[in-house]
Amino acid sequence: MANKTANEWEALLYKNETVADTAPDSLAAAQEFCEGYKRFLDNAKTEREAAAYSERLLLDAGYKPFEPGMALRPGDKVYRIEHKKCVIAATIGAKPMEEGFHLGIAHIDAPRLDLRPVPLYEDKDFGYFRTHYYGGVRKYQWVAIPLALHGTVCRADGTSVDICIGEKPGDPVFCITDLLPHLSAKQNEKKLPEGITGENLNVLIASTPIADKDLSDRVKLNVLGLLHQAYGITERDFTRAEIEVVPAFTARDIGLDRAMIGAYGHDDRVDASPALMAEINTKAPAHTTVCVLTDKEEVGSDGVTGMNSEYAYAFLKQLCAAAGADEIAAFRASKCLSADVTAAYDPSYADAFEPNNGTYAGRGIAIYKYTGSRGKNSTNDAPAELVAYLTRLLDKNSVAWQIGEMGKIDLGGGGTIAKYVANRGINTIDVGVPVLSMHSPFEVVSKADVYMAYLAFQAFCTDAE
Ligand code: MN
Ligand code: MN
Repeated sequence: MANKTANEWEALLYKNETVADTAPDSLAAAQEFCEGYKRFLDNAKTEREAAAYSERLLLDAGYKPFEPGMALRPGDKVYRIEHKKCVIAATIGAKPMEEGFHLGIAHIDAPRLDLRPVPLYEDKDFGYFRTHYYGGVRKYQWVAIPLALHGTVCRADGTSVDICIGEKPGDPVFCITDLLPHLSAKQNEKKLPEGITGENLNVLIASTPIADKDLSDRVKLNVLGLLHQAYGITERDFTRAEIEVVPAFTARDIGLDRAMIGAYGHDDRVDASPALMAEINTKAPAHTTVCVLTDKEEVGSDGVTGMNSEYAYAFLKQLCAAAGADEIAAFRASKCLSADVTAAYDPSYADAFEPNNGTYAGRGIAIYKYTGSRGKNSTNDAPAELVAYLTRLLDKNSVAWQIGEMGKIDLGGGGTIAKYVANRGINTIDVGVPVLSMHSPFEVVSKADVYMAYLAFQAFCTDAE
């Protein structure tokens, strides 16, 4: 073996290094970018709120509602909100659409507790809402923390009203109680997933009865009276409502160095917000850029607002029709960054991870060639050529990236929306921000990674290849 210098030996290695070491100058910009991201989080605790907040940002940036058949010129910015829960935003490129879209997709639904259709009951002079958990929730994490109610109620007369209680200073909050340690001997014997069950997740909402002692369920009636007074709704209106129970706290800096953010719902607003900001900041791209912020990822992407539905592809087809472009050619030439969070290596739970293929908070945007479980089942497996395109693009634009898998391969795994997009014939690869305590009420990310996600989307939106 010929002698090499130390640098020449180093050049043979893949190294997964911190952004602080490889791009220290980006840390100040990351701090600034994340102020906007924290505002996004605090204004977007539900998919409806995320869609509405995104629409405000798009309108402020000059986007126009897309009308099928409208004349489109390079640089034009159009958008569509789908069923109040999904966002599609596009900037028309200089190249014909047959040369492909550059698609950035993330999701804006997050694990939470939803109210059941008949949620309200009283027991021993306490008023409660029964919930049905949405997505992969570790139930024991949702007790004994402050909770807020967010949602929409459709009334009998066809009008609807938005509800948000527990966010403004001075608002009351809600909670789910847990057993005291003094009486928990039997509960302590249970396995962790059984310690708190779905039927335990009842939200404490009131404890004052109405004065009329001749009536029964007087606390429940008091609750209904208060809700009717404030929102003009009745118990029947819960049957046509979507009310989500979410943590009542706001996004906060974590650490003495303020290098991280703790918040509810990083999964997947931590990819959605950077993807949207990159789309908004893209002017005169070569390829037409399309940012999709979708719903229902956490429950399998089914339904009219999930990536299994036609809605996003229908928008792409209508864009092609408006431009007189062949949609089959456009789909075949397109590339998609399917963004979703991934597990950050957690030294406190090192047993769950394989360090060489772990992705780490603070080391840049993570690339996943494949996801899935039990032997790469149910995954998009991006072609090596697409991984090569993406890593070349990120290197060229000095975007810190790392590549890996979620954790030890026999422990579980998970999927993303990448396969649904790829199944439509669009070349797709998974990227995302690593998260600590993923799916918990208080998830943690590194600000450096949030910023690198933004830079990655920006490079992709403006790339001419
Ligand atoms: Mn996700
Ligand atoms: Mn998730």
